[in-house]
Amino acid sequence: MKRTEIIAWLREDDPRRLEGLWRLAEAARQGGVGDEVHLRGLIEISNHCVRDCFYCGLRKSNKGLRRYRMTADEVAAGARQAAAFGYGTVVLQSGEDYGMRAGWLEGVIRRIKRETPLAVTLGLGERPLADLLLWRKAGADRYLLRFETSNRALYDRLHPPLPGRRSDRLAMLKRLRKLGYETGGGAMIGIPGQTYDDLAGDIETFRELDLDMIGVGPYLSHPATPLGSEAAKFAAPAGEQVPATELMTYKMVALARLVCPCANIPSTTALATLSRAGRALGLARGANVVMPNLTPPEYRRLYEIYPGKACLAETAEACRTCLEKQILKLGRKIGSGPGGSPRGGKAKGAVPFSRFCEKGTVPFA
Ligand code: SAM
Ligand code: SF4
Repeated sequence: MKRTEIIAWLREDDPRRLEGLWRLAEAARQGGVGDEVHLRGLIEISNHCVRDCFYCGLRKSNKGLRRYRMTADEVAAGARQAAAFGYGTVVLQSGEDYGMRAGWLEGVIRRIKRETPLAVTLGLGERPLADLLLWRKAGADRYLLRFETSNRALYDRLHPPLPGRRSDRLAMLKRLRKLGYETGGGAMIGIPGQTYDDLAGDIETFRELDLDMIGVGPYLSHPATPLGSEAAKFAAPAGEQVPATELMTYKMVALARLVCPCANIPSTTALATLSRAGRALGLARGANVVMPNLTPPEYRRLYEIYPGKACLAETAEACRTCLEKQILKLGRKIGSGPGGSPRGGKAKGAVPFSRFCEKGTVPFA
């Protein structure tokens, strides 16, 4: 797909023609990853963060947020619950929190691996190479780090450097791949200042990086952030600014699926926050993963990336029942096992290499 074709889809508003895009995405999804929808139990283990990303409620300058860090026992209990629910993966997510020592997390990963059959996915920000290596050796299988936008100038505007260390998520994704992690990237949709051309660049970047996992979700405004309080100052010119809508998110999910048929693509909580139907429609337009929340309720409301997050008050059990019902209603199957990348071999438990996913044989890209 050429950039002009990607942009044409992103600007397409005719529901009949868009039906064609959803159908193509579904065919690619079925060929690439099949009908199973994998459930990944999400534990938000700390909301401390040293970074100051311009869009995120966890940024260090948000002094109005009470901070927490879970104990090893609490994290292990969440992982055991994930296993008891039959999920194949636990996702440990947090701000970039150096109060969470690398050696401490190494112990937590080893404990989860010892006590459960789960695959372990990490999403802990831009930690140093030594930490990533330690966690990989401890058994961590996957790492999620969205690059947020492929427009370097916009990226630099939104991600101030730490003292002596600029933010470079694309470089870190390449490092993660070399360390043998299944690697997940992704982008936000409708960031003030983001254009249609930028989004098309994101799709091309998914293809170039050949990602195992791709997370795309709408940008949601948080008032305690620079982007939330001064959106107009950052916006692109009228006609160029991408809207942070449900429809634009479905288009990005579908296009990501077309260029990476074998990637694991979640239908995100941010999408479910925009629309009650969002989670199911995301699954029906290319996604194959959902991430039920297992964070204890007292911490969950403090992990406020943006206000009004979906499923905030639901118990872990209610969240699981609701998601499983939605999956079965779509005529899909609940995934079993760790649900690793079908391109396989890089992570323990990954399903065997599928010829369909061999580089160069992808029929839609
Ligand atoms: N600190 C880790 C990181 O940045 O990769 C993991 C946690 S961070 C909260 C996870 C993701 O939340 C980010 O990659 C970003 O895409 C998303 N996010 C942050 N603020 C958001 C907002 N205002 N609207 C939508 N998504 C947001
Ligand atoms: Fe921290 Fe991640 Fe939020 Fe950036 S996006 S402020 S790294 S939690």
